[in-house]
Amino acid sequence: NTQILLDNRPVGEAVASNFKCITVETPALTDGQVLVRHHYLSLDPYMRGRMNDNKSYAAAQPLGEVMIGGTVGEVVESRHPKFAPGDKVVGMGGWQQYSVVNAGEPGALRKVDTTHIPLSAYLGAVGMPGVTAWYGLVKIIAPQAGETLVVSAATGAVGSAFGALAKARGCRVVGIAGGPDKCAYAVDELGFDACIDYKVHPTALSLSKALKAACPNGIDGYFENVGGIVLDAVLSRMNAFGRMAVCGMIAGYNGEPLPMANPALILINRLKVEGFIVSEHMEVWPEALKELGALVASGQLRARESVAHGIESAPEAFLGLLKGKNFGKQLVQL
Ligand code: NDP
Repeated sequence: NTQILLDNRPVGEAVASNFKCITVETPALTDGQVLVRHHYLSLDPYMRGRMNDNKSYAAAQPLGEVMIGGTVGEVVESRHPKFAPGDKVVGMGGWQQYSVVNAGEPGALRKVDTTHIPLSAYLGAVGMPGVTAWYGLVKIIAPQAGETLVVSAATGAVGSAFGALAKARGCRVVGIAGGPDKCAYAVDELGFDACIDYKVHPTALSLSKALKAACPNGIDGYFENVGGIVLDAVLSRMNAFGRMAVCGMIAGYNGEPLPMANPALILINRLKVEGFIVSEHMEVWPEALKELGALVASGQLRARESVAHGIESAPEAFLGLLKGKNFGKQLVQL
């Protein structure tokens, strides 16, 4: 069983030498345990936060242990009555080829149906990132049909799900993404009404002008994934009583400061600004997953994946995710 451990903590930008690859024997199972062979590992921006040991909403990843991560795979051996070899399962198996799971622990392992939904989608659109989009849209932005919504990192795992969910509610949806290919994909494949390439608008003022053109009626709801000048630009176009779901600020995850140019706009426009962590709202997961599963099964949400191959490729693929090298949900196929 080849594993990737966190070996040391980053100073500033995360680098490949923060990780260490080792190979160990898989231990024999005891009663209640299940051995899972991972087919895919999910790479997610939150993992960057876990690499630090400063105060956060979640505990730091311990050094010398397998990196935390969501996985989908197949049961190969079971000493738990509810799981049998061949079952397809979702869990938190971490950055390794196999995991031994105490299957009776609440939430440790969930069987999934791959008849209409591909196994990998349970790590993306029909998994944690999809529910994240759902929560911010439904519970925080709570849009009316006809309103204009904007999402940053629009073509990623969360952003693409947000687009589909918002279109299903009759909203005008405008994305912000990096590069012409991502922007074309957002409009042509994901059904966004427009998508702005922030890389050709390097200042908040320039991006704000592009937003004005794409959102002639202003912005009623914003789903924030990035921070920095993207946030400044969107803030300058928010309508009175707009809502902002603050989901992530990936532009700052490697330690870059993210000053806010004009927070007074929150007051002037009487905005509701709410941050959230999706794992603290487990009560909405069943409802959200049901809607997301239906969108994927019907082809209304065709979320793209970036797939790296082999567990050894996980560190580089993860570092690339923090720089926008992924195009869609970043996975590692094992
Ligand atoms: P994505 O699949 O969207 O991948 C990350 C994307 O972020 C990149 O592809 C890139 O897109 C963009 N990005 C990276 N660096 C920068 C930068 N410096 N400036 C601007 N954009 C950048 O990831 P996810 O969909 O998994 O996650 C999206 C966001 O949601 C993250 O901020 C994440 O932390 C957050 N999140 C929060 C959760 C919560 O509970 N609050 C749960 C899950 C995710 P591009 O090339 O278009 O710039």
